[in-house]
Amino acid sequence: MSSQVRTRFAPSPTGYLHLGGLRTALYTYLLARKHGGRFILRIEDTDQEREVPGAVDLIYKSMRQAGLDYDEGPDVGGEYGPYIQTQRRDLYPKYAWELVEKGGAYCCFCTKEEIDEQRKAAEARGETYKYNKKCLHTVSLEEAKRRIAAGEPYVIRQNVPESGKASFDDMLYGHVEVDCETLDDNVLIKADGLPTYNFANVIDDHLMAITHVTRGTEYLSSAPKYNLLYEAFGWKPPVYLHLPPVMIESVLMDKTTRKPILDEQGNEQPIVRKLSKRYGDPSFEDLLAQGYLKEAIVNYIALLGWAPKGTNEEFFTLEELCKVFDENGINKSPAIFDMGKLTWFNAEYIRCMTPQAYADMAKPWLTKVLDPQRFDLDRLCELLQARTETFAQLPGMVDFLAQMPPLDLSLFTNKKSKSTPETSRTALAFVRPILEGLPEWTEAALHDAVMEAIPQSGMKNATVLWPLRIAITGRAATPGGAFEMAYLLGREETMKRLDAAMQAL
Ligand code: GLU
Repeated sequence: MSSQVRTRFAPSPTGYLHLGGLRTALYTYLLARKHGGRFILRIEDTDQEREVPGAVDLIYKSMRQAGLDYDEGPDVGGEYGPYIQTQRRDLYPKYAWELVEKGGAYCCFCTKEEIDEQRKAAEARGETYKYNKKCLHTVSLEEAKRRIAAGEPYVIRQNVPESGKASFDDMLYGHVEVDCETLDDNVLIKADGLPTYNFANVIDDHLMAITHVTRGTEYLSSAPKYNLLYEAFGWKPPVYLHLPPVMIESVLMDKTTRKPILDEQGNEQPIVRKLSKRYGDPSFEDLLAQGYLKEAIVNYIALLGWAPKGTNEEFFTLEELCKVFDENGINKSPAIFDMGKLTWFNAEYIRCMTPQAYADMAKPWLTKVLDPQRFDLDRLCELLQARTETFAQLPGMVDFLAQMPPLDLSLFTNKKSKSTPETSRTALAFVRPILEGLPEWTEAALHDAVMEAIPQSGMKNATVLWPLRIAITGRAATPGGAFEMAYLLGREETMKRLDAAMQAL
């Protein structure tokens, strides 16, 4: 591409960065990086009623956490600033008036009540409401200027041609064309002087020299109208890339109770729906808080609707993605978010961490339930790394070390180890004096002493080791075997738990 590629991610500060938004941000970032271009962050906050306090800072934070560094943006500057739309409020009316003079827009003085009435009447007729262009036909520009000077409230509307076609070309969806008569004369400048998204996106993309506009398909139907604005100004429109939504397989749910709505037979009703915070689907921040690695999330999100050509490789760092990403490989059909697949990615990433990096991430989770003075957390981390799917699972995987859970005697019955409560009683009675007499309490000493002695017992290894591990952990699944667990618990605690189990059996 000849001129420098400039892409932008343009979130509205309405809450957390949801995963569909993160994917848009990621593809937008990759598109710029792939072409050696610039990636811009713009905050679209002209709909002030929807703004959530703190959301702007969260956007900055999430972008950094995801590694999506922007070259220009509100908190990094740049020569096309300001990058927050409310800070640009003074420049939009000038362009709106330019359009008014050119006939591409007009002032509208209709009151909210009038508009509401027209809307209701249209709905009563079963029609989609569309402004009837009353002010275009009845208020001359001179009159409009006079009324504005006299302080009358007004909005500026786009003057969409009453017939003909409006169209644009999308990289993914091709040529999109609509009949102008189906289009409403959108408000461009509201009564409070602020632009609507419909106007600001065009002005800003042009003024910020954006070459590629990437955003969700919810804007696909409005884009022809935006193209009419570019045409009215005589500006070159950007390349458009509308991205299909990220979906999730779910069941029909009640929005308020978030409980499944059952059919007449009492069954859940499977549906595929858009990812949505309202139904409790996780945001990027939620996933980080649940112990997912940002690298794994970004890698997985990149594959939601895009696949590299000519390879089955699935693992990519952000740096690698910058090289292999190809906008032509984006899929038109909606992507399905699969939590299980993300968790699998996460586990794979965790396995590839250095032991030190793993321990640094794991320890804050482990110390939620374990006293670091009492337990050898480095050893525990070695045992846990290959078994960790998400860091948030760790407290639940190790809490039995801090406190013996209520002993479930049925665990002493196990087919694989050929254990029954009777064999377990014998095994524990056999192993107890060996442990008690150990001169040092290390995994190696525990292992060697018990393994050397087992042949004399006439029992199989598993028949001894299974009840030992159950007796001191109370769990069928633990991050290591009986010796590792005994070592971590320490001599005193191991003996105490062993005695308690023997009594209970
Ligand atoms: N502010 C819009 C949103 O958050 C962005 C649309 C666009 O990128 O043009 O949905």
